[in-house]
Amino acid sequence: MDSEEVQIRVAFVTLGCPKNEVDTNRMRTLVSNSNYRVVDSVEDADLIVVNTCSFITEATEESLDVIFELLSDDDIRARGGRIIVAGCMPARFGKDLQDELSEVAGFLPVDEEDRILELIERLTGAPAVSTAPGVMRAAESCSAYVKISDGCDRFCSYCTIPFIRGRYHSRTLEEIADEVASLVSQGVKEIILIGQDTGVWGHDLEGEADLVGLVGHLCGRFDDTWFRIMYLQPEGISDELLDLFAHSPNLCKYLDIPLQHSNARILHEMNRTGSSEEFLSVLSNIRSKIPSIVVRTTIIAGFPGETEADFAELREFLENAEFDYVGVFAYSQEDGTRAGERTDQVPESIRIARANNLRELCDTISFAHNTGRIGQIVEVLIEDFEETDDTIEAIGRTQFQAPEIDGAVHLPKVAGEPGDIVCCRLVDSFCYEYEGELLQ
Ligand code: SF4
Repeated sequence: MDSEEVQIRVAFVTLGCPKNEVDTNRMRTLVSNSNYRVVDSVEDADLIVVNTCSFITEATEESLDVIFELLSDDDIRARGGRIIVAGCMPARFGKDLQDELSEVAGFLPVDEEDRILELIERLTGAPAVSTAPGVMRAAESCSAYVKISDGCDRFCSYCTIPFIRGRYHSRTLEEIADEVASLVSQGVKEIILIGQDTGVWGHDLEGEADLVGLVGHLCGRFDDTWFRIMYLQPEGISDELLDLFAHSPNLCKYLDIPLQHSNARILHEMNRTGSSEEFLSVLSNIRSKIPSIVVRTTIIAGFPGETEADFAELREFLENAEFDYVGVFAYSQEDGTRAGERTDQVPESIRIARANNLRELCDTISFAHNTGRIGQIVEVLIEDFEETDDTIEAIGRTQFQAPEIDGAVHLPKVAGEPGDIVCCRLVDSFCYEYEGELLQ
């Protein structure tokens, strides 16, 4: 078939975390740089790629809902639109999923997503012609996630990720820097470095390679770009890394440290390490070295065997630790995990009640921190503009706000372009949102 005649249209639907967004963007770029065409709407597509999440049961159910909705859509069926299921679900459930979803045209588990053109060719009979082999992915906005590694070797007892995404594997510094260079050349102003466990980046590469070297290289080479590191396990926070934070103005003073719990026994049963005392000491060291730093964590409430006393200790720890942001999750019992097989599961209603209790506490602490920042002068990266009745409002983020999870700064009557970095004073706060005023 002549490639000029082929107009296979492909749409993408992404579910789950930022790592999936990166994977979708990579697949989208491969398709864009071929004779197939990317379309925005599933209504216009011949093939719809659903990049799924199945980290926990709730995410799996959401993914299935989306797939079944697309499979039963009369318009899509009438014009022969077909569905490809990509990402975590086919990686986690393999053949069982394929048997369950017999109407799905094809499957692309996470480690096969780079073969998307092959799959489209096989499904449509239209030979794939790659017009820009090896090309970097296209920037989607002024802020972009860059994966520095994938997989995880920690095998936390409640987690499915190592079974879905495999063992830890770092991308090389050259690969990462090339991708950053490409995104920066397209106007990206903030790069968010992600991986399941960013602190151990490089340990599996040949020669001397560590996170401090990688981030120092990136911050020095792209000194007009903000860099943000996500998902640093507490063991990955070395004094060298804190020195780098202190001396790199373009490294966001923001640490995301997923602790999950603070009770030593529960942490041990999670196959993790630490205790309330150890974590408070880590936090105190961080804050003494970088007083302006903002710290986020994630916590799991209702892990199997969590007693009232363990929960009270966790609550007290959170009161003392005073995190700026906390993501609280009720424990989710997952098949195929050691924690999931335990017989001392905490009843779901108690898990949910404990999670809500902690959320309320952490919100109160976060809101107080936010109020305390009123009057501060900060840089804001403008991401969007919204028209209200009689004015235009710019919406952006400071270095202490990661996209989608930490709120935004609203700047009334500010003109400009997405990607502009402006100086403003924080004049008011409401929950996780701020109002700012532009300083000339
Ligand atoms: S560190 Fe633990 S929770 Fe995080 S991905 Fe690895 S195994 Fe899962």
